[in-house]
Amino acid sequence: MNINKIWHEQPIKNKFMLISMLIVTCSLFFVSTAFFVNEFIDLRNAYKKELLTISKTISNSVVSSLVFNDKKTAEKIVSNLSSLEQIIGIAIYDSNNRLFAMYKRKNGDVKFDPKFEKKLGFNFLLKSVELSESIFFEGQSIGFIYIKSDLSRFYIRIKTLILTIMSVIILSIIFSYVLLNKLQPLIINPIDRLANLMDLISRQRDYTKRAEITTKDEIGYLAMVFNEMLDTIQHHSLELERYRKHLEELVKKRTEELMEKNKELMNELKERKKLEEQLVQSQKMEAIGTLAGGVAHDFNNLLTVVLGYGELLKQKVKNDGALSRYVEHIIVSAEKGKRLTEGLLAFSRKQMSIPRPINLNEVVKDTQKILKRLIGEDIELNTTLCDKDIIVLADYVQIEQILINLVTNARDAMPKGGEIKIETSLFYMDEGFISRYGYGEKGYYGVFKVEDTGVGMEKRVMERIFEPFFTTKEVGKGTGLGLSVVYGIVKQNKGFISVESEPNKGSVFTVLLPIFESDVSVKEEEEKVVKIPLEYGKGETILIAEDDDSLRSLIKIVLEQFNYKVIEAINGRDAIELFKEKKDVINLVILDVIMPKANGKEVYDTIKEIRPNIPAIFISGYTSDFLSSRDIAIEHLEFIQKPILPTDLVKKVKKVLEKQ
Ligand code: ADP
Ligand code: MG
Repeated sequence: MNINKIWHEQPIKNKFMLISMLIVTCSLFFVSTAFFVNEFIDLRNAYKKELLTISKTISNSVVSSLVFNDKKTAEKIVSNLSSLEQIIGIAIYDSNNRLFAMYKRKNGDVKFDPKFEKKLGFNFLLKSVELSESIFFEGQSIGFIYIKSDLSRFYIRIKTLILTIMSVIILSIIFSYVLLNKLQPLIINPIDRLANLMDLISRQRDYTKRAEITTKDEIGYLAMVFNEMLDTIQHHSLELERYRKHLEELVKKRTEELMEKNKELMNELKERKKLEEQLVQSQKMEAIGTLAGGVAHDFNNLLTVVLGYGELLKQKVKNDGALSRYVEHIIVSAEKGKRLTEGLLAFSRKQMSIPRPINLNEVVKDTQKILKRLIGEDIELNTTLCDKDIIVLADYVQIEQILINLVTNARDAMPKGGEIKIETSLFYMDEGFISRYGYGEKGYYGVFKVEDTGVGMEKRVMERIFEPFFTTKEVGKGTGLGLSVVYGIVKQNKGFISVESEPNKGSVFTVLLPIFESDVSVKEEEEKVVKIPLEYGKGETILIAEDDDSLRSLIKIVLEQFNYKVIEAINGRDAIELFKEKKDVINLVILDVIMPKANGKEVYDTIKEIRPNIPAIFISGYTSDFLSSRDIAIEHLEFIQKPILPTDLVKKVKKVLEKQ
């Protein structure tokens, strides 16, 4: 630690005190020294004077003794000096420098030496003073006197003097210290206050505070300048604060904007993800549909064959109890299978449909009875119908089926009862909706909602409900085809279906079907919408004449399945009569060659007279050779050999009808 550092670290007060005290001490020192020197010289002079006075007195007294050479008197005079304690010794010399008289204080340290003493004058030594002076008589030196005196009295005086001066100095210093201490606040306090204020301001950053100006000196000036500075700082700080606030607001606004954008982006991402999912889902459904449709189609044909031969077999084994029971089982199972494949066909949109303008409100109204029977008593069914007619172009039966399937599911979801709400409404699908949900086409839609208060679904179930054979119901209870059929029908009619559900919070199924614009002709739409598989008919009427009941009913089943209307005749005459009766609606006749009452050929010839170009197909268990031999030529006629394969039958029917 050096002094410089210590000095710098001291508060002003200490520095002030130190400097002041230093000045006071120095001043006192110089004053005292001067005083002391002055006193010292004075004292010395006083000694000299005293010695001179003594020497004069003695000189005057011994003049006569010298003149008269009276040593005794001189000795007496000199010895009188013993009364003066300070005199160490005294010697009187005559004109020849011979000792004339002398006095020596007891154990006084003095050696008289006239050679030395004569020239001496006044001599101030450390412990003593000496004086030698000539003695005059009538202007002539008649000898000289030498006096030596000690300085003990002088030193006592000096000591006292020093003590006094020291006391005065100490007292002065103490007094100065006290006084300075009392007075320093006058100078230091304003500085202190200023410093404290600065400190406070710098810590609290409160620029509204101001220094108090108490003096008109430099400190006052400093306070004034400081206040001015504070004004500027306050001004700047206010401005800064304003800027800061402005900036903060800007940042806040920007952040909000960013958040907003971010949210939008997230939403967009979410939407995009949803759309992607929907796309994947619809592609999946499409693929499943194609697959299911293909399988179902082939399977349906196979089942028709099974059913066909099953029917034949049933007739054949009528008398055998056990066998006919087996056959019955086969037929029942095949029929179940057929219903399944029909569902699949509906899903893959290969099911036949006859779209015509229908009012959704009416379908709901008309179906209510069936629905009520379906759901039982502990479930309430409430319908709210749109006050406007909602005309859509669809197959009545299909819409009914949608309702039935949805309501059946709702019922199954509420084993402990609940409420089903059916609601119809009109809806305009705008671009906003399309971009939001990622599907649809602009325009008006008829809507029906089926809402239940049942068990609801988890998301992972909801994702799969439209898949064929997806079911959460126990084996035997659900086929998993209900919603697939609904989906197929909705798609076939260019509609949309959506579902909202949460576990234990019920489900809402919403079906949207495009509103039928009346300026589009029904026919056109029909042709556009309906994709009828090759083998299917267009609802033509066919007269079958066959005496074998089971074969006839098989043919009827097969044909009806392929969308033909069938009139059955049990023998030749019956056929002719029925034809006459309905000659205008019949498009084709199927005739067994060998029949009672009138054979096929005869029937054909007769009806040909009524309608010359009526197409006909002959069926027979006999070969054409056999028939020719019986004079029944069929070369130019369409012929199917028994046993009839249903596929062959429908193909042949289609071919013949298309020829027309
Ligand atoms: P199924 O009824 O034969 O199971 P669906 O295709 O009709 O087949 O339905 C498929 C699945 O969708 C059902 O098993 C069920 O899990 C679910 N589901 C359909 N509708 C509802 C509903 N309203 N509430 C709860 N779950 C339903
Ligand atoms: Mg179902």
